[in-house]
Amino acid sequence: MEQNDNTNNENEKTIKNDVDCDEVIRKLNMILDGEIAKEEETKLLHHIDDCNNCLEQYHIEKSFKELLKSKLQNLSVSVSLIQSIKDKIKGKS
Ligand SMILES: [Zn+2]
Repeated sequence: MEQNDNTNNENEKTIKNDVDCDEVIRKLNMILDGEIAKEEETKLLHHIDDCNNCLEQYHIEKSFKELLKSKLQNLSVSVSLIQSIKDKIKGKS
């Protein structure tokens, strides 16, 4: 009986330590892009919650991505603007 209890405890610890910082950092982009399985995302986010180092990296990546996204959106607006100007020029000639 005692041995069984010990085995269970060890298993639980193994599952809890399943995620390490390297793994979180490697998968940060996947988390932010939503390209990761929900189950794994929950696991990784749980680690991020507990780990200041990963939390910091997470916020850096997140704000970088948001910045990039807003820049891309601005770019796509001007690209479509250029395209509509080009179309007008083509239509005239
Ligand atoms: Zn960490």
